[in-house]
Amino acid sequence: MTELPPLSSDSDLAARAGVSLEAVQLLRGTEVIDLHIESFIPPRLWGYDLRKRHGTLALGGRFFGHLDFPRALDGGLTGGMWSVATNILRGKKGRLAAVKKNIAGLADVVGQTGDRMRVVRTFREFEAARRAGAHAVLLSVQGGNAFDASPTGPLVIEDRLLTRVTVVHLSNSGYGGTSSPLSLMSGGRGLTDHGRLFIEQLNEGRIYVDLAHIAEEGFWDVVAVHDRDQPLLVTHTGVDGVRDMWRNLNDKQIKAVADTDGAIGIIFQAGFLKRPGGPKDGRMVIEHLRHVIDVVGEDYAALGSDYDGFITPPPDLRDGGVGFPRLVQYMLDEGWSVERIQKILGGNFLRTFRAIRPD
Ligand SMILES: [Zn+2]
Repeated sequence: MTELPPLSSDSDLAARAGVSLEAVQLLRGTEVIDLHIESFIPPRLWGYDLRKRHGTLALGGRFFGHLDFPRALDGGLTGGMWSVATNILRGKKGRLAAVKKNIAGLADVVGQTGDRMRVVRTFREFEAARRAGAHAVLLSVQGGNAFDASPTGPLVIEDRLLTRVTVVHLSNSGYGGTSSPLSLMSGGRGLTDHGRLFIEQLNEGRIYVDLAHIAEEGFWDVVAVHDRDQPLLVTHTGVDGVRDMWRNLNDKQIKAVADTDGAIGIIFQAGFLKRPGGPKDGRMVIEHLRHVIDVVGEDYAALGSDYDGFITPPPDLRDGGVGFPRLVQYMLDEGWSVERIQKILGGNFLRTFRAIRPD
């Protein structure tokens, strides 16, 4: 058991982040859920210890080193979808064995936090964790091809531990095509028959279907076949309305997610967000949130940082220990209401969680 450090005071955090006390108090007084955290990648790559606070940013915060458990807690996150990413260079059986091992490994390290953090599977468990003061960890997988070799797909993960799967990642898979330029190396971009079965399996387990990364053809195929009573997520993305590029959602896609009462998490990857002449700091995230709000209203926008997922956030968001207070300050500077800010930080996502996994 490693004792996680106590939280800093609100005024210390405000000073460190360079924001108002009001911003920190708003942040720490509400539910703050990051829809996509990849901080389990560095521990797998070089033994980065998630339970320790990492003070200096390796490589200036490009790619990795953005977050760890102490910074997640101190920086205001009350919950997050902590992801296990699939290594596409492994074979099918290797991927399946790895995803089982890594989900168990992530749950294990969360279990070593003295109940400061707790794995939750349902909204009811989320509420119980929060009442106990614990950060709620929702276990997730990035890259559905982890389950290619499983006849029951993602249901192979027992005990409903898995809450969300990103159907595809950076490469095409047996399920369908990626939006990434790597898709040009191989076949079609729509959902395959195997992919349709996979969506059925996710729906059966009431595991969120995450449409981040999927090519637009596959996106519409999923919209057509998924259980209409379950909310869709796009956990980490930008939007074409601000920056038109392969990794972002267009307005029709934003509306389709909202139609399922789902949520859209804006990523912190500057390369997907920054428009010519636009802000060079965390306000680029605000622009994408604002576009989602302009298109479908304020009930669907959320945050999905992709911290430690090989991204380069704008400089002021590279340290996940101060990124969220800074975003709240930018939202306040926009004149957004406390209610809107609370929805973006966690309320919108939690509405979807209550719908898909009540208990
Ligand atoms: Zn991703």
